[in-house]
Amino acid sequence: MPLDPRLVEDIALRLRQAQRILVVSHIRPDGDAVGSVLGWSLSLRAAGKQVTSGLADGVPGSFRHVPGSDRVRRRPEGPFDLVCVVDCSDPLRVGEVYPGAAAPDINIDHHVTNLNYGRINLVVPQAVATAEILADLIQALDLPLTQDAASALLTGLLADTLGFRTSNMTPKALRLGADLMERGAHLPELYRQALHRHSFEALRYWGCGLGQLQRQGKVAWTCLTLEHRQAVGYPGRDDADLINMLSTVEDIDIVIMFVEQGSQRVKVSWRSQPGIDVSKIALAFGGGGHPAAAGAEISGGLAEVQQRVLAATFALDEQAHPARDGEDYISIPSGSEPDL
Ligand code: 5GP
Ligand code: MN
Repeated sequence: MPLDPRLVEDIALRLRQAQRILVVSHIRPDGDAVGSVLGWSLSLRAAGKQVTSGLADGVPGSFRHVPGSDRVRRRPEGPFDLVCVVDCSDPLRVGEVYPGAAAPDINIDHHVTNLNYGRINLVVPQAVATAEILADLIQALDLPLTQDAASALLTGLLADTLGFRTSNMTPKALRLGADLMERGAHLPELYRQALHRHSFEALRYWGCGLGQLQRQGKVAWTCLTLEHRQAVGYPGRDDADLINMLSTVEDIDIVIMFVEQGSQRVKVSWRSQPGIDVSKIALAFGGGGHPAAAGAEISGGLAEVQQRVLAATFALDEQAHPARDGEDYISIPSGSEPDL
């Protein structure tokens, strides 16, 4: 679907009036947040603007190879003529990089839970990544799409689609991948860096979570505690992408990851099979996300948060499959198993 031409015109006008531009995204940034901030910043910079890129938590080690990441500031100093927030559904998630109370000029995002908090809101939930919207916008505004900008945007596209394989994938997104390759982005290397490379500490951290994996019916979950993080020396506050590994468990509707954050807070991530919308639960807990991938940071101790979240998740799964009674107990009569 093409971008709304009125919104494109509004953005073009604001960009023409601005010289010093701040581009930011959310705390604990993922590949789409990093790729979108950097791709958009690089394109605007190539168009002659003075651009500052900001991320409250900086660029995670796994994305430091993305062009432009060395120029990201955690506490950018203004003043700025224009503030643009990308890939962030809630202004409070921007963190201290930019005071959330003030409405940013432009909010560009693909989360269905976006709160439309900008003066201009370009929100396209059909887009598989914010990087996809930005690639369309760069083309619509006739801005330069350099090799570096293409590499950053392809990183965002790969990260949010887990390498073009999520259930929301579209032919358009696949074509965009090819377009970005034609601009010089190196798909195999960006794929490896974004999705197929983990630190030694991250894999040991996975071991802690995998060792505690539990399931009830079609819901599986595990947790990572502060003790786990300390024991393996994992430096981040995230789950080191363990949730994507958990979502490969067969015959499960929903997987949940609990990551203890200290100060009585827990980061929760949900992933679901098509047809089960976990963004609703995330929103109810003060977070947000997509139908098949959502998250929230919830106040409370680990055990208490687990109990509340599991109860809400079992209820959602039950709604999705009201007629499943007893399904878990169906067994194949002996002697009828196929020879494998
Ligand atoms: P993850 O579980 O990998 O952190 O995030 C999954 C999706 O949910 C991402 O699109 C992410 O931006 C969104 N998300 C995760 N945590 C939060 C949160 O606390 N608030 C909001 N609004 N969105 C979140
Ligand atoms: Mn995204």
